[in-house]
Amino acid sequence: MTQTAEFPTPRLGEPYLLTPGPLTTAYEVKEAMLRDWGSWDGDFRAMTATICRRLLAMAGDEAGDYVCVPMQGSGSFSVEAMLGTLVPRDGKVLVLANGAYGLRAAETLRYLGRDHVVIDKGDYLPPRGDEVAAALAADPGITHVVAIHCETSSGILNPVEEIAEVVEAHGRKLLIDSMSAFGAVDLDVRRIRFEALVSSANKCIEGVPGFGFVIARRTEIAAAKGNSHSLALDLHAQWVYLEKTGQWRYTPPTHVVAAFLKALDLHEAEGGVAGRGARYRANRDTLVAGMRALGFETLLDDRWLSPIIVTFFNPADPAFDFARFYDLMKEDGFIIYPGKLTVVDSFRLGCIGRMDAAVMRRAADAAGRALTRMGVASAAPPALALEERARLAA
Ligand SMILES: *Cc1c(COP(=O)(O)O)cnc(C)c1O
Repeated sequence: MTQTAEFPTPRLGEPYLLTPGPLTTAYEVKEAMLRDWGSWDGDFRAMTATICRRLLAMAGDEAGDYVCVPMQGSGSFSVEAMLGTLVPRDGKVLVLANGAYGLRAAETLRYLGRDHVVIDKGDYLPPRGDEVAAALAADPGITHVVAIHCETSSGILNPVEEIAEVVEAHGRKLLIDSMSAFGAVDLDVRRIRFEALVSSANKCIEGVPGFGFVIARRTEIAAAKGNSHSLALDLHAQWVYLEKTGQWRYTPPTHVVAAFLKALDLHEAEGGVAGRGARYRANRDTLVAGMRALGFETLLDDRWLSPIIVTFFNPADPAFDFARFYDLMKEDGFIIYPGKLTVVDSFRLGCIGRMDAAVMRRAADAAGRALTRMGVASAAPPALALEERARLAA
């Protein structure tokens, strides 16, 4: 394998993760974990404060209207903490779903016993402003709307600006799951109105897994005392404790926090959200061009393709076998991701992580070699897949 100076192969024999978190991290990020920290110690408290300050700056909060509250666990823990804390027990939520993560938000609300309704667009159609407006006009009981920014199960980039405008016009509150987009796709409080967003350490900021964070309007979280169903996931209590002591309420993932701080340095050095987003878009464009040259087709029209992850249809050729494709890609240094569509078979390739366009070109080359080794003559998808896609475009 050839190496590029800036983005070397992770380690000899270590594959690139073409998966949307955990993802391939920089060596310096991993190296930052080679030290132990006392969670109550001033040095670690300063690290937590720095992280929160820098995340708020990333969200464009110049006015100090928002607070950043980190939460231990994977991203779903933070989603649950946000929903359980910011939605009052007598609230009602409209969930905009078009894939696994939207449905998971609805499932979380069901566990929490919060009243909710779902607009389910299926696998990959975007929820649009007019249908959200109609749903809100029809049901004055809806207090909150949950939107998924990038629905990682298909890779669709949902139109959150359009949705935010409608939610604001109807005087409701917007909670955004920007897990796989924040840090690479603009979500600026000066441009898009929302009450809270949630993301995590191991997506576009390229840290390692271990915590998530909620950026919430200060007045919202201040009013959320007593809402939470859960002791450990009470975001209000975590915030109050953090404000008072500078500490996380229970044991923080200290090494993960140290790694995240290094990841934030690299994010800034790359030019922040704009720079990171530009690299991911270049990754996507290189990958999609390379795969299309082999005959692969993307599920989505270019208009909805996120720079985060891309879904490709499995080739119709009977010689294609996903399990074998996976193994061959892994042998060539790339871990790929199975698809999550219900109608047709597919697989997904992530564009995020410490990788550049040269790596993506190699990934497409590896896919070409895998096809050859399987004896697949054409990567063209089955007619059914293309019919599905035409239906989507209609
Ligand atoms: C990754 C992700 C989550 C959280 O998933 P975890 O496996 O709990 O980290 C939530 N929403 C979206 C859109 C995601 O991409």
